[in-house]
Amino acid sequence: MKITRVKSQIVKLPAEEPLAGGPGFYRPFFEFVTIRMETDAGIDGIGVTFFGGTLTATLKHAVDQLSELVIGEDPMRIEAVGRKVRGAAGGAGPGGISTLAFSAIDIALWDIKGKALGQSLAMMLGGLRDRVPTYASGALSRTSPLEHVVKAGPVLVEKGFKQMKMQLALPGETTPAREVERARLIREAVGPDIDLMCDINQRWSINQAIDIGRRVEEFHLFWLEDVSIHDDYAGLARVADALATPITGGECVYGIMPFRHMIEARSVDIVMIDLLRVGGIANWMKVAGMAEAFNLPVVSHLLPEIHVHLVSSVPNGLTVEYMPWSFRLFEEVPVPEKGELVVPSKPGLGLEFSHDIDRYVVG
Ligand SMILES: [Mg+2]
Repeated sequence: MKITRVKSQIVKLPAEEPLAGGPGFYRPFFEFVTIRMETDAGIDGIGVTFFGGTLTATLKHAVDQLSELVIGEDPMRIEAVGRKVRGAAGGAGPGGISTLAFSAIDIALWDIKGKALGQSLAMMLGGLRDRVPTYASGALSRTSPLEHVVKAGPVLVEKGFKQMKMQLALPGETTPAREVERARLIREAVGPDIDLMCDINQRWSINQAIDIGRRVEEFHLFWLEDVSIHDDYAGLARVADALATPITGGECVYGIMPFRHMIEARSVDIVMIDLLRVGGIANWMKVAGMAEAFNLPVVSHLLPEIHVHLVSSVPNGLTVEYMPWSFRLFEEVPVPEKGELVVPSKPGLGLEFSHDIDRYVVG
C-alpha cells in the first residue's frame, strides 16, 4: 500500500459549552487543521491537529510541507514514515509546530493501519479495556460567573458524570479567600462523592500554589493541575511535596524527553499527556510506559475522541478529559454512559468527519 495524496483544511468551530449549556470559552472559536490521507488501496485515514493561537495557517502550511514527504510511502510502516518526517526538522529538532504538524500525519497513519487490519486503534494498542472513566471539562471554567457554575455542576451530575473539572486562579482582582470560596461552593453544589479536579493553567506562583493549595485541601480535590509554570520542575516538586492533593501536569510538554525530567523531579503525581504535543500515538504510549515505571497514572488532554483509545489501552490510564471543543469535526463521537466512555470498536479511530464540516472550512 502507498500513500497517494494528503489533503488539509482549516476548520473553524464555534467555542461552545454543550455539556452544561454554559457560556462559551475564553475565545469565540477554535481552529483545527484536519487532514485526509489517501492510499492506492482505497483506504483513507483522517488526522487532526491544533495550535490554539494565531498560527493556524502556519500550522496548515507545515502539515502540507511534511505531507509531501509521505507521498509514495507505505502507511503501515508508521515508525519508518515517522522517522523520515521527524528527520525533516533537521538541526532545528522537535520544536513546537513541526511536532504538531507531524501528529496529524501520525494519527492518519494509525487510522489507515487500523482500517487495513480491521482493528480499532485501542485493539492495535493491546485491547486492555472496553470502557474507561471520563470527566467533564470546560463547564466550570474560571470565566463563568459563580451563579452559573454552581448550577452547571449539578447538571453534569444529573447527566451521569462522576468526575468533573473546575478552574481556579480567577481573572481580575482575586484573593485567596475568593479562590477558596469558589472551591467550597462548587464542592457543596456537586456533593462529596464527585471526583472534582481543578485546573490553574500555570497562573499561580509556587508559593501561591502551596498557600491556596493548602487552604483548599479540605474540599478533597481529585487533582490540582498546572499549578505554576509547566517546566519549573523543581518548583512544582515543592508543591507536590507540600500538598496531600495530587498534582497533575504535562499538557504543555512537547516530545518524550522532558517528561523524563518532569517525572524524575517528582514534579507531578499524575502525568497528563497531550497527543499532539507529545508527537503522536507511539510517543503517547512511550510516555505512558515511562510513567507506569514510576508508579504514576496518566490522563489525556483534549481530543477525547482519540484519547479514549489511548487511556483505555494502558494499565495506568486513569481518566479521559471529555472536552467538547472538537466534537463538531466528527459525524459521531463517544458519548459518556454513567461517567464512562465505551471504547469504539470500529476499525482505526472509528471516526468520520462530519458531513456538515464544509460549512466550517475557512482555509
Ligand atoms: Mg489543563
